[in-house]
Amino acid sequence: MGPSIVVFSLDLRLSDHAALTAAAREGPVVPLFVLDETETGGRPMGGAGRWWLHGSLQALDQALRSSGSRLICRRGATVDVIRSVAKATEARSVRITRAYEPGAAGRESALKSALAMNGIGLHRHGGRLLFEPEQVRTNDGGPFKVFTAFWRAASRLDPPARPQGVPDLTPPDRWPASEPIERWDLAPKRPNWAAAFPDHWSPGEAGAEARLAAFIDSALRDYGDNRNRPDVVGTSRLSPHLHFGEISPRVVWHRIMAAAEADPRLQAGAEVYLREIGWREFSFHVLHHWPHLPESPFRPEFARFPWQEDADLLRAWQKGATGYPIVDAGLRELWQTGWMHNRVRMIAASVLVKSLLVPWQAGERWFWDTLVDADMANNAAGWQWVAGSGADAAPYFRIFNPVSQGRKFDPEGTYVRRWVPEIAGLPDTLVHAPFEATAVELEDAGIRLDRTYPRPIVDHKLARERALAAFATLKAGREG
Ligand code: FAD
Repeated sequence: MGPSIVVFSLDLRLSDHAALTAAAREGPVVPLFVLDETETGGRPMGGAGRWWLHGSLQALDQALRSSGSRLICRRGATVDVIRSVAKATEARSVRITRAYEPGAAGRESALKSALAMNGIGLHRHGGRLLFEPEQVRTNDGGPFKVFTAFWRAASRLDPPARPQGVPDLTPPDRWPASEPIERWDLAPKRPNWAAAFPDHWSPGEAGAEARLAAFIDSALRDYGDNRNRPDVVGTSRLSPHLHFGEISPRVVWHRIMAAAEADPRLQAGAEVYLREIGWREFSFHVLHHWPHLPESPFRPEFARFPWQEDADLLRAWQKGATGYPIVDAGLRELWQTGWMHNRVRMIAASVLVKSLLVPWQAGERWFWDTLVDADMANNAAGWQWVAGSGADAAPYFRIFNPVSQGRKFDPEGTYVRRWVPEIAGLPDTLVHAPFEATAVELEDAGIRLDRTYPRPIVDHKLARERALAAFATLKAGREG
């Protein structure tokens, strides 16, 4: 009997994997990963994502080998590779996990037709989300545009089914050829800008499990209070694991619920946490129904917004040299670890798009390249939320003041001192606003403005007025 091919993508795990479980029930399984860098393969993965992918594929291969199987890795156009592996192994079916990214449905149906020509069936399974986009509908049967209504409707559905375990895997009679992933140059070498990433992350299913367990033990209880504090480890840091599908959202949901049932002190934190998982679901829901989300505004009037492209401002922001410590700390944390705290993402993004009027797409692209959790749905939704152009977005008049945000969420300056050490000597009252310090205070802290640390790239008050005036032109356009 020919084997089933399971094509892994953003579902790099063995447990609670519907496609793998179904294939294992049928007989021998060939686990396959295709690195598709052709034009038809969708938007290419960013640099930090590629670093993660390298580790995740290694981890998946190891886990498969300890189950008597292995991961076949091939590079090329997805359809061609799958057809060729199917031919070589005389496979009888191919199974995939459903994708929601733009163009995914078209790519899946092209694959289905190509395999059908050889008499091979393509089976698609869920697994990346708690609820499929079609399951959550408004009373009129349409998609939701507002998070609260979306999450209320989703919460009324049957709760996510119990996760499945790791299936027993039967190897095929003979293995098809596989390429060593070391040759794919996924991880950077010269320069190795990801050198510090392994201090912060361990890609793979075991790393994801460990992260979730540690979060439940140490941070779930106070999640509601601490999730906005970049100076404490108050969030789960599961985002890259969830993005690469190393843990299923169903497993996360059930573990969090079980922990809260066992210890009522965790209940409040659990509810807030699952709501954040809900925001992830909502981003995918919106991306599925509005596939232009990563490129153009959800609210069409924003296409007329008077953005001001400016390569110098963008570069200063990317380098963490804006003169606003909380923003600079975030961009440097991002560069050194591949991750940035959510509150800081919001402040940094607001400074780029509202204070500097640089188009949100420029920030989206930078995050896409530098975040280990770069995710088409969450990243586009996050940027459009901040810009005010998204579904259920922040209102246009909410323009973050980076100094007061810093003082509120990093009150002792621990976070900015860690990532912007050149201002560490300032007292807590000034560490978020070095430009407010007197000459003596600066000297005491060893700072020379514009030499050792920049003055603010833009005056917040003026920038705020300019942004409000720019937003007013949208309103005037609509009225006129
Ligand atoms: P936790 O607080 O522990 O949350 C648990 C999980 O819930 C996260 O892992 C994530 O999957 C989900 N989640 C949390 N907050 C959000 C949110 N606001 N929107 C959607 N899902 C959420 N998240 C990404 O996964 N990839 C991105 O590319 C991404 N880009 C962003 C860009 C901007 C401008 C902004 C403002 C937010 C972005 N986010 C993105 C959302 C959020 O910042 C991260 O999911 C979160 O910081 C990840 O850290 P965590 O796992 O510790 O989160």
